[in-house]
Amino acid sequence: MLSKYYGCAAFVVLIGNSSITAAHELGAHVHGIATLQVAVDEKTMTLDFSSPLDNLLGFEHEPRDAKQKAAVKNMADSLNKAGLLFIPTTDAQCTLQSVKLDSLVLNKKSSQDKEEAGGHADLDGEFVFTCKQIGKLHELDVQIFTTFPNLHQLKVEVATLKKQTSAKLSADQHHINW
Ligand SMILES: [Zn+2]
Repeated sequence: MLSKYYGCAAFVVLIGNSSITAAHELGAHVHGIATLQVAVDEKTMTLDFSSPLDNLLGFEHEPRDAKQKAAVKNMADSLNKAGLLFIPTTDAQCTLQSVKLDSLVLNKKSSQDKEEAGGHADLDGEFVFTCKQIGKLHELDVQIFTTFPNLHQLKVEVATLKKQTSAKLSADQHHINW
């Protein structure tokens, strides 16, 4: 009994460590590159998006004039319609349920994302979709590159209950299948 218990505990710890390492590696701030973690469970698909602000705005500080304020608003409007940027398999019948955006340009006081050394800053987004036929969900068509042309590469990691996969997407190669 005891050895069985230990075996199980060790497995859980191992999974925990590897996901922390993966998240850390994904999180590096490199202009032109963003990350997307896709988690699929029995009913929902959760997308965790993280990008340097430069990819989305062309600057990484609080907006200083009307033009920059408009850019921040346009960015938020686009990300709030994440169903147009991240398109799941049609047959899975997914609908966007919630959007959370976190960045110093949007919610200065509550933001967890303090400006990094050297004046860099990120945007983090969480997009939750619920899917009526989640068993049919096997693809994401990423259309974010046309909206944000400064974003050149999206590193995607997908974890479903059955498998994991990853890909580096771009304007030319914007589908991931699993
Ligand atoms: Zn930067």
